[in-house]
Amino acid sequence: MRKKIVAGNWKMNLDYTEGLTLFSEVINMIKDEVTGSQQAVVCSPFIHLHSLVQLGKDYNKVSVGAQNAHQAEAGAYTGEISSRMIKSVGAEYVIIGHSERRQYFGETNDLLAKKTDAVLKNQLTPIFCIGETLQERETEKHFEVIKSQLLEGVFHLDETAFAKLVIAYEPVWAIGTGVTASAEQAQEIHAFIRAEIAQKYSQQVADDITILYGGSCNPKNAAELFAKGDIDGGLIGGASLKSRDFVDILK
Ligand code: PGA
Repeated sequence: MRKKIVAGNWKMNLDYTEGLTLFSEVINMIKDEVTGSQQAVVCSPFIHLHSLVQLGKDYNKVSVGAQNAHQAEAGAYTGEISSRMIKSVGAEYVIIGHSERRQYFGETNDLLAKKTDAVLKNQLTPIFCIGETLQERETEKHFEVIKSQLLEGVFHLDETAFAKLVIAYEPVWAIGTGVTASAEQAQEIHAFIRAEIAQKYSQQVADDITILYGGSCNPKNAAELFAKGDIDGGLIGGASLKSRDFVDILK
């Protein structure tokens, strides 16, 4: 059985105190309300990581992750944070290749392949994001784009390493826009991703990998999306900033 995950991506929101307050609320609600085997992951700004890990350390339903990591282990890269540093505070996940990183920080598939390697080398789980822009969908290039993001970003990994990934499909046109992909549209891409993985690696690897949907996912549409056979949970932006919404999605 593959893991069901709902991961919150706080992006560049919440100061230190606000972040700790939100996280404490989330933990308390999960303790009281969530009985299934689903896992919550909270991907916060770097400044929160250490404190969130401490706050959450007795709750195995909640893990903590970062939103980016530099590809090098250490060195003269002013302002950057390495996977080794993220590991050292006890975080377990790192979002890699979010479309905002691709778009605003020029992160290419080649760079993201290196970042993925660094994350895995430090025994962290990459949440590797892929997804097409509106223009790519309108010109029917979405399958091709997804395929090349997989090929250039993560298909260099051997089977053992690849099996450690979480993939997140996030159509760029659905992120922060209030426009969600329909459950059918999302399922179609998730099935395609799984088929590509089966072809490259094996059916077993494809069956076992967790593939999340992201893009305007909220408590109203989550159930329908997550009911689809190839959708194993979500990567949640806006709705992860409200404890009630985030935990309702998890439930
Ligand atoms: P959204 O963001 O839920 O606010 O659309 C999702 C994401 O960017 O991961």
